[in-house]
Amino acid sequence: MRVTTGRGISLFTLMLAACSAPTPIARPQRPFILEPLRPVVTQPITPVVPTSPPADTSNAARVRDATLASSKALDHITSLVDKVGPRMSGSEASPRAVAWAVAKMKELGFSNVHTEPVKESHWVRGIETGEVVSPSSHQIALTALGGTVGTSERGVSAEVVEVESLEALAALPDTAVKGKIVFFHVVMDKTRDGSGYGHSVGVRFAGPSAAAKKGAALALVRTVGTGDDRAPHTGAMKYADGVAKIPAAAVSVADAELIHRLLAEGPVKMHVVLTPRELAPVDGANVVGDIPGSGSSGEIVVLGAHLDSWDLGMGALDDGAGCGIVLEAGRQIAVFAAKPKRTVRVVLFANEEYGGAGAKAYAKAHESELAKHYAAIEADLGDGRVYEVTIRASAEASRALVDYGMLLFPLGAFVGDKDADGGSDVGPLRNAGVPILELRQDATRYFDVHHSANDVLEKVMKGDLDQATAAYAAIAYALADRDGELGRIPEPGRKGSH
Ligand SMILES: [Zn+2]
Repeated sequence: MRVTTGRGISLFTLMLAACSAPTPIARPQRPFILEPLRPVVTQPITPVVPTSPPADTSNAARVRDATLASSKALDHITSLVDKVGPRMSGSEASPRAVAWAVAKMKELGFSNVHTEPVKESHWVRGIETGEVVSPSSHQIALTALGGTVGTSERGVSAEVVEVESLEALAALPDTAVKGKIVFFHVVMDKTRDGSGYGHSVGVRFAGPSAAAKKGAALALVRTVGTGDDRAPHTGAMKYADGVAKIPAAAVSVADAELIHRLLAEGPVKMHVVLTPRELAPVDGANVVGDIPGSGSSGEIVVLGAHLDSWDLGMGALDDGAGCGIVLEAGRQIAVFAAKPKRTVRVVLFANEEYGGAGAKAYAKAHESELAKHYAAIEADLGDGRVYEVTIRASAEASRALVDYGMLLFPLGAFVGDKDADGGSDVGPLRNAGVPILELRQDATRYFDVHHSANDVLEKVMKGDLDQATAAYAAIAYALADRDGELGRIPEPGRKGSH
C-alpha cells in the first residue's frame, strides 16, 4: 500500500505556470479528453516560473495516444489468468508464472529477457472453517491470514471479545482476554486514494500478536476490504518476537457484521479450525526484460509490478493488472518509431505478497548499478484510472512534474503535491536514493476484491485499465527520453512505507 508523507511542495503552482507559458515546441493535436476538466485552483497562488523551458514531450504524448487507441493490457492479464491462474509465492504455479512472463516478454519484443533468483517463502493454507455455536448457529466465512500458525485439528472453541482497535485491546485487562477469541472489528473506509487500507491494515498485521500478549487463544479480524459480501480477504500478518504465536483469520464483511450484531445482544461463542503450514522456502525468480534506449548512458527507467498473487482469487487485479500495465507500456514503447534515450526495464517481481524477497533481491543484484537507475515506477493498485502523478527526487528535479502534468492533462490526471512513496517493490530502490514517480490510481473499487476470491478477470474494467496504461507508457517514455538528471533522493527523505 502506498502512503505519502506530504512534503507539500506546491507543484500545482509549477504546473499552472508551465501550462500558461508559451511553448516553443510543436505539440501533437490534443487527443480526446476522457473526463470533464476540473478546476485545479480555487484560491490565489504565488506563481513560480520554472527557470528552464518545458521539455519536449511530444513523442511521449504520441505514445500515450497510441496506447489509448491500441492497448493490449487486458489481453496480457487474460493470458496470465487463463494460462497460469493464481500464483502464490512458493506454489507449483510460481515457476509456471515465471515461464509465462519470460515467454510473454520475448513475444512482445523485449530484449535481455532473463530471470534473477529469489528465495520465495512458502506458506500453504489448509483447512479453514468457522462457526458461531452460541447463542445461535451460523457458518462463518473466514480465511487464514498469510503466515499464521494453525489451530489443533480439533480447533479452538472460545468466547469472542470484540475490540475496535489495538488501543481498545490494550485498555482491556488481561483477564478479559485470556483464553478467548479476540475479534478486531475495524471498518475500512472506501476512498479514491486507498488510504482506508493504510488505516486498517495495521490491525491485520499486528493484531494477532497484540492479542497473544494478553493471553488470547485466537485472533479474528474483520476483512480489510470494502466489499459487503461473504468473501473474506486474506493478507500478510507478522508475529512479534518473543510473543506466543496464535492462529489468525479474516472474517468476511457480512459475517463480521453478523458477529458484531450478536455481540451487541450478549455473549457469543465460536469454533474455528485452521490448518495452514509454513514450508521450506523454494527457488523462485524475478523476471526482467529491457526495451533498449538509443543513448549510451546505460541509464535505466524501471517499470515494476509483481507476478505473484494470493491464492483465493485469480490475481487479475492484484497484481495481474499491474503486470498488464507495465508489459503493455513496454510494448508500446518498443513498437514506437523513435527510441527514447534511456532503456526502459520491465521487472515482474516475485514474492511481493508474502515476504518481499523479490524487491530485496533485485536491489541487491543491481547494487553496483543503482546509480544508473534513473527512476522507478511501480503499478500495484489494480486497474483504476490514474488521477495524479507525484515524484520523489532531488528538489530541482521535482520540476520535471511540470512537463509530466501537461502530458497527463488530456487523460484527466493532474500533478500532486505529496512525495511519491512508490510501493513495496520499488521501496528498496527508493531507500537507496533512486528517484520514484508514482501514478496514483483510483482505488475506489480495488479494495472491494483484492486478496479475495472476487479478484477475477470480470472485475477488470478495460476503459480504466487502458487510461492507466497510457499514463504509465507516456511517463515511462518521457522519463527515458528526458534531458538532464533527476539526481538522487536526498538523505534524509528516502524512507517510505516499505
Ligand atoms: Zn499487489
